[in-house]
Amino acid sequence: MILLRTPDDMLAWSKSRQASGKSCGFVPTMGALHDGHMALMRIAREQCDVVVVSIFVNPTQFNQPADFETYPRPESEDLAVCKACGVDAVFMPTAELMYPNGYATMVLPEGVADSMEGASRPGHFAGVATIVTKLFNCVAPDRAYFGEKDFQQLAVVKQLVRDLNLGVHVIPVSTVRDHDGLALSSRNARLSEKERVAAGMLPTILTEAQAMARDGHQSSDVVTHVSTRLRDVAYSRVDYVTIVDGDSLATVDTPGTKSVLAIAVWVGDVRLIDNVSLLGEPLL
Ligand code: AMP
Repeated sequence: MILLRTPDDMLAWSKSRQASGKSCGFVPTMGALHDGHMALMRIAREQCDVVVVSIFVNPTQFNQPADFETYPRPESEDLAVCKACGVDAVFMPTAELMYPNGYATMVLPEGVADSMEGASRPGHFAGVATIVTKLFNCVAPDRAYFGEKDFQQLAVVKQLVRDLNLGVHVIPVSTVRDHDGLALSSRNARLSEKERVAAGMLPTILTEAQAMARDGHQSSDVVTHVSTRLRDVAYSRVDYVTIVDGDSLATVDTPGTKSVLAIAVWVGDVRLIDNVSLLGEPLL
């Protein structure tokens, strides 16, 4: 496994890899790697000749400086995880190299980027679209793997690839969950023991929403129920609860086969997001 620390080195490596005719699978991450990231790497490993992982805590997608500063950065553990997953190259640049003095270009997605995370975290998706574009340019992948946990991000990246003709095949990967159903996230490590127990209620509440949708309830009833239940979770503060069409992300009145319930909730100082296909497989 090779470690590349500059965009120029990554680009040069990608040029020679392209010349060899080998297909490339790419997994962009912010590190603090867990089983969710590993699922992406394993699928990339199965589907592509060469696997590249990037580890970069991207400052432009954080709308709260404290969140950026406290984001975990366990570099040597992360490299060991990549090696164990059979990754060929890790791209781990510094913020100074990705955004040097005089950097002045951003990619500004609209449409599917406007609601939910886009509304709650101004500038977040501009940061995501910009870094994904830059990483795709450095890595030149054939396929890129994104988790359904960040379901709106996946929609934004698909739109970005389509709109800017990036020519990368975007592959969604199912959310990997902990023993109690909580979606794995690098931020879970920042929950105290009591907060982590409280967060374990989230998948139960999402499963209740699925049951309500299967029973034919309207979206407004499901949203009311989920909001009330989330407010009762210890240490919680609800950011949003919404039911949208899985492709357009437009809100829907009556849950259908493509409807997704998405939530964002603070548990203590940690903001957690999750989503579930309302008429899909029960979570628990
Ligand atoms: P992050 O490091 O949080 O930026 O995530 C990097 C990639 O891993 C993104 O495509 C995420 O959607 C994906 N990911 C994060 N958590 C999970 C999870 N629990 N299951 C599946 N994919 C995940």
